[in-house]
Amino acid sequence: MRVVIIGAGVAGCVMARRLSLLDGAEVTCLERVSADDHSQAGTGLNIGPNAVKALRAVDPELTERITKASFPWRNWRISLTDGTVLFDLPLYEVAEGPGWRIRWSELYRVLREAAGASVSYGCEITTISRDAADPRKTRVAWMQGGKQFRLDGVDLLIAGDGRYSSVRRTMSGEVAVRQVGVAISRVLVPDMSNGLIDDYEQWFNGPNRLLSFRVPPNHIYIACAFPIPPQADIPQHLKTAEALRAAYTPPHGAPSAQARWMIDTVCANVHDTHWARMQEHDILYRAADSNVLYLGDAAHGMVPTLGQGATQAIEDAANAAALIARRHGDGQRNVADWLKDIEALRKERLRFVMEFSLEATDTMLAGADPVKGTRQKTGAPFRNRLAALYRNVGPLLERTEEEMRQ
Ligand SMILES: Cc1cc2nc3c(=O)[nH]c(=O)nc-3n(C[C@H](O)[C@H](O)[C@H](O)COP(=O)(O)OP(=O)(O)OC[C@H]3O[C@@H](n4cnc5c(N)ncnc54)[C@H](O)[C@@H]3O)c2cc1C
Repeated sequence: MRVVIIGAGVAGCVMARRLSLLDGAEVTCLERVSADDHSQAGTGLNIGPNAVKALRAVDPELTERITKASFPWRNWRISLTDGTVLFDLPLYEVAEGPGWRIRWSELYRVLREAAGASVSYGCEITTISRDAADPRKTRVAWMQGGKQFRLDGVDLLIAGDGRYSSVRRTMSGEVAVRQVGVAISRVLVPDMSNGLIDDYEQWFNGPNRLLSFRVPPNHIYIACAFPIPPQADIPQHLKTAEALRAAYTPPHGAPSAQARWMIDTVCANVHDTHWARMQEHDILYRAADSNVLYLGDAAHGMVPTLGQGATQAIEDAANAAALIARRHGDGQRNVADWLKDIEALRKERLRFVMEFSLEATDTMLAGADPVKGTRQKTGAPFRNRLAALYRNVGPLLERTEEEMRQ
């Protein structure tokens, strides 16, 4: 069985490592960047407890490696920038264990090392098409180190190539993107906070929100967000230190010690700040008439409010890997059937995660009342949905973990 994975990101690496263990599987993972790429070094990720649970069910060793490279995410606190606490939730109340806090580049390092020799780096894909002999299969050609390579008769093509997936565009058409109307910036700095910042926290001043947490080795990640008109680019004058200071300084009274440190740090690092707009795109797990599976951001794009992008990429990969390993082990080799079953496992779950992430963004939109909106999040309806988010990783993974324990 010939498997090609495009992209050695979060979902691609988990799949490459797990599928390489299948008897008779030839797995080739093609990654665009070089092996020592550090393009995501300036971003910290908080990864939900649901990803930890999902990955542990299929790959406990990899789960431990990521745990070693991260800090545990145990608590979620939301305050105003004047220090008033609105929401303070120990995650054990809604999850079975902690999540992870990790640098994005460090997560890639661990995942890529774990995926090992199945990944080829510095690959430029030149062709993705249906195979001439069997249209369910695909054909992939690429350039690497100035040489041309090609694989025909690919039984399963997996798109793990992220948010602007060229595989999805080629095989299933353009992806419509919806802008939500929030600008986000991110910066990673050495920890000079003297202990002010550690676990995951958010601070509001009106709908303008700061988010911060500490990641290994000793850095602090800060993300700023504020409303913008949905279809507009982020205006240049809002990307300045003066505008950011005004956005987060409380109108009455002084900022808390935490907020003051973050505002000063954000303003001092404004030239190293990356900017993006919050957006989402529709769910698609498989191509209509060929054996192409979309995973992670290639399959869905959600707003980052609940930290579920990489989290769901891991949940996707864990579910897909578990299903394929099971079917393959049972001698069921109809790839089209595997893909239908993976879609059935994931689609409703992703609808829930995307809708919940969007609803949780209510306090960040123009005109929002973050005090009222955040206090509502302390109630049972929000907590119950959070528990469903962090606990329900799917029946197949529950069964897989149960079997592993026996
Ligand atoms: C600023 C920011 C903050 C975020 N914070 C969080 C967070 O706190 N928690 C969270 O869970 N998620 C977060 N996310 C989202 C998360 O990073 C993504 O959802 C996640 O990385 C998606 O994983 P993936 O495997 O689908 O794709 P990616 O991890 O994006 O991997 C895609 C891979 O494919 C490669 N690739 C792309 N095109 C090609 C090609 N043509 N040929 C070969 N290779 C290709 C890329 O180089 C990359 O290695 C954040 C995202 C951003 C931008």
